[in-house]
Amino acid sequence: MPAEDSCAVCGGELADRACPNTACGLPDRAFSRLYTVSEDADATWDVVYRFKYGDERHLADDLARMLVSFLREHHAELERFDVRTTTALYIGPEARRLWDYLRVVVDAAEQIDPDRSFEVGVITKVRPTGRFLGIGVEERREIAEGELRAALRVPEPGRVEGRRVLVLDDAYSEGFTMREMARALREAGAVEVAGLVFARRKGT
Ligand SMILES: [Zn+2]
Repeated sequence: MPAEDSCAVCGGELADRACPNTACGLPDRAFSRLYTVSEDADATWDVVYRFKYGDERHLADDLARMLVSFLREHHAELERFDVRTTTALYIGPEARRLWDYLRVVVDAAEQIDPDRSFEVGVITKVRPTGRFLGIGVEERREIAEGELRAALRVPEPGRVEGRRVLVLDDAYSEGFTMREMARALREAGAVEVAGLVFARRKGT
């Protein structure tokens, strides 16, 4: 159970009784819970950052090991999810990134434990959307609710209809991206969507 002074959705510390991660407090949040692999946000975010933006692809194995241990440790709580998948990333023409770094991690996780495998491509993004880095909260929210919402697809709704879906992303800050993933999956028929991230950061 989360402590009294922590957010019931993401487990983060409350500030003035509210979670600084905006989406946690929104009535149309669409995801039920946010699970976090590591509470050591600084160290974990450093590994994620070096893996994602640097060229240290071997770190996928470290992240995969962390992910598998978390899934094993929280098996009882997480076994209700029928589908484990990754956040939609755009990697086609004009993409800023040409590789699906989350897929690399879940492939590595599957090597460690085939029972903890993820399905990829459940939710997809058909074009690039504005960068979240270096802009304010309101602008990020606008991009999420506008461009991102319009670019998301669930190509085969049958894969999520009537199911509980756990969506992996690298980090959680305001939660706008997770909210859009959850919204699209719920519209496609998922009965529950929850997020899973390596590290949670406070909203800025
Ligand atoms: Zn929260």
